[in-house]
Amino acid sequence: MSPHVLILGGTTEARRLAAELVIRPGVRVTTSLAGRVSRPVALAGEVRIGGFGGAAGLAEWLRAHHVDALVDATHPFAGSITANAARAASVTGVPAVFLRRPGWRPGPGDRWHDADSLAGAAEALPRLGRRVFLTTGRLGLAAFAHLTDLHFVTRSVEPPEPPLPPHTEVVLARGPFTVAGETELLLAHRIEVLVTKDSGGEATAAKLTAARELGRPVVVVRRPELPDGVTAVPDVAAVLDRLGFAGP
Ligand code: NAP
Repeated sequence: MSPHVLILGGTTEARRLAAELVIRPGVRVTTSLAGRVSRPVALAGEVRIGGFGGAAGLAEWLRAHHVDALVDATHPFAGSITANAARAASVTGVPAVFLRRPGWRPGPGDRWHDADSLAGAAEALPRLGRRVFLTTGRLGLAAFAHLTDLHFVTRSVEPPEPPLPPHTEVVLARGPFTVAGETELLLAHRIEVLVTKDSGGEATAAKLTAARELGRPVVVVRRPELPDGVTAVPDVAAVLDRLGFAGP
C-alpha cells in the first residue's frame, strides 16, 4: 500500500517537503495547517486545516488515516504542536521526524540583545530606542501594549491581534524580503531598534543585514526548547533521507 506521510506545516520547508514527496511514485502526502492564515500559500498533495485536539486527537488522526510517517515541519516557535507530535508518535509508534531550520547567529557588526520571551523583549526596549520595528508576528503583541511612550511599526501577513501598544502602525506583508526593501522601511519609519524571533531561514533574514548596516540594535527572542528526547534535522534533504526517500 502507498505510504502516507503527514506533514505538520505552516512553513516554507513544509511546503517544499510536500512538493518533494508528491513526485515520489505511490507516496500519499497530507499537510496539516493550523488555520491561522485565511489564504494560505498553495500546497502540493492533500491539505487538512485546524487543530487535532491535543496529542490524543493527533494520535487518533494518525491511526484513523493510516499514517506511516509524521513530519513536524512547524515553525520553531510553535512549541505546543511539536510537543503533541512527539507524544502522539510515541503512543502510536508512528515514526516521526522533526525539522527545525537552524537559528540565526550574530556576525561582526551585529548589535543583538537576547530575550527569552516577548515580555523579556518588551522589558529591554525602552533603553534601546523609542521607534521600534516589531516582526514577531500577529499574535502576542499584548506583551508590548503597556509601552505607551514608544512608537511601534508591526509587520505581519494578516492584521495583528489586539491589544496593541497605543502608538502602532501596521504593515501587512508576506516575505521573502530584500535588504534594499528592509533598509528603506527602517529609514522611512526612522526605526531605532528591531524586535524579532529567532526564526532562522533566508526569507526574513534581510532585516538583520539592514539593521547591521544601519547600526541598529536588534532584540532577538530565543526559541523554545525541543521536547525531551526529541532531536531535529535542519533541512528538507535530511527529512527525505530519514524517511528513506533520498535522491531524485
Ligand atoms: P502552537 O502554539 O504550537 O499550536 C497551538 C495549537 O494549534 C496546537 O496545539 C494545535 O491545536 C494547533 N496547531 C498548530 N500547528 C498546527 C498544524 N500544523 N496543524 C494542525 N493544528 C496545528 O503553534 P502556533 O505558534 O500557534 O503556530 C500555529 C501554526 O502557525 C504552526 O503550524 C506554525 O508552523 C505556523 N507558524 C507559526 C509561527 C510562530 O511564530 N509561532 C510563525 C509562522 C508560522 P490542537 O492541540 O487542537 O491540535
